Amino acid sequence: MYINLIGPYPYSKFALVENFWETGYGMPSFTLLGEKVIRFPFILYTSYPHELLHNWWGNSVYVDYEKGNWCEGLTAYMADHLMKEQQGKGADYRRNALQQYTNHVQDYNDFPIAEFRSRNNPAEAAIGYGKVMMANHMLRKEFGDENFINAYRKFYKEYKFKNASFDDIRKCFEDVVGADLRAFFHQWIIRKGAPEIELQSASVARRGNMYEIDFTLSQNQKEDLFDLRIPIAVYLENDNEVGLETIKFKERTRNYKLSFDKRPVRITVDPMFDVFRRLGLDEVPTTLSQAFGSRDAVLVLPKKSKSIKEYKAMADMWQQSQQVQGKTLEVAYDKDMDEIPQDKAVWILGYENKFAGYVNIIEKYKGYLLPETITRFENLNKSGAVVFVVPNPNNKEMPVCFIGSRIKKAIPGLVRKLPHYGKYGYLGFEGEAPTNVLKGGLPVINSPLTHEFKYDGANPVTNAILLPGKPLAE
Ligand SMILES: [Zn+2]
Repeated sequence: MYINLIGPYPYSKFALVENFWETGYGMPSFTLLGEKVIRFPFILYTSYPHELLHNWWGNSVYVDYEKGNWCEGLTAYMADHLMKEQQGKGADYRRNALQQYTNHVQDYNDFPIAEFRSRNNPAEAAIGYGKVMMANHMLRKEFGDENFINAYRKFYKEYKFKNASFDDIRKCFEDVVGADLRAFFHQWIIRKGAPEIELQSASVARRGNMYEIDFTLSQNQKEDLFDLRIPIAVYLENDNEVGLETIKFKERTRNYKLSFDKRPVRITVDPMFDVFRRLGLDEVPTTLSQAFGSRDAVLVLPKKSKSIKEYKAMADMWQQSQQVQGKTLEVAYDKDMDEIPQDKAVWILGYENKFAGYVNIIEKYKGYLLPETITRFENLNKSGAVVFVVPNPNNKEMPVCFIGSRIKKAIPGLVRKLPHYGKYGYLGFEGEAPTNVLKGGLPVINSPLTHEFKYDGANPVTNAILLPGKPLAE
């Protein structure tokens, strides 16, 4: 794949060598991986392609460290990101990179990509790997896959066994696309910082037999403005396809108008996380690990359930393991509570729980999940076990997690299995084992970059789902 993508492999062999230290080193013509990591089956889609690709980037085109390390972010983009892209999960990978930057990089520890040498902490990783990865993604989005690939083929050919810098990458792209890219490289490589984008307002009006959306974007970062190209997704009533437009945006605030012949249902700014930016708090989906990671939580047991013994055992087990980690998990019965607390994480156990309907996920997420997923969910609700976690409707910073099982004997298995599914937002299980048959992340609704249009107070239906794009290589 890499020979086709970039150019001939520069060495006569490639060896995977087991190291007695737990390393992940990419050396010329071999990689040194630790004995633990080598055994994992997922290594074939994570460290292994990354270290293999370092034979092109780093071990034959060398890094001119004085001018910034371009090699890790590019390797992450063409290996780690590409593997995810091939599984249809490129947007998740990018969102996570933006999240890392948002969480770990603030004014005091931010620095330009041009000053990145190597990773010693999460902030350096978020810039040297994540931001460089995103800069490459933006180049690809702006100029297309073919130009992107040709520019790097040229870069490889010209700089094999030589030192190279971001400037040399820029010149290769300029030659291939025939444009001056100094402003782009200055903005992302020489300058530090990230834009913060807000959808300030959005409305829709009827003009003849067309519908016109009017919306305003702003850049809220304190520092200078960025010159951006931002994808906008518009979901239309009774339509299976999402309308995608790319707009230019380099002002503090700007108003846009787009027209459609069907009623717009929803607009989302940068839905696939294609732009390097600081994320808003509300843009991140809730996951099970947030519920497990909460310092303070309450678990609500269903007093009247016929599986109360099993649920109680689950509660006791988790209470213990949370205590060991210095966290508190309070266990309570539904009949003793008037309402769900808003200042801590909440676990609601059992279909018979009087708070089971506190978050009606099917109703709420119908327009966001594939119809097959909804049907699957409905069926598992009747005969299997279902787990999901959503933001508390009364305090979006706190997760509410529901666990319900129609099979009594499946509950002990859930106790063991759930901690391993931390990155998911919903899960479905079958049988007594129980066997996981459904998993995924619930999309963020009420994102500050999404607006739902109402007509006479109601939000119309759309069948459109945004599908992942074609990967850079297959
Ligand atoms: Zn690397």
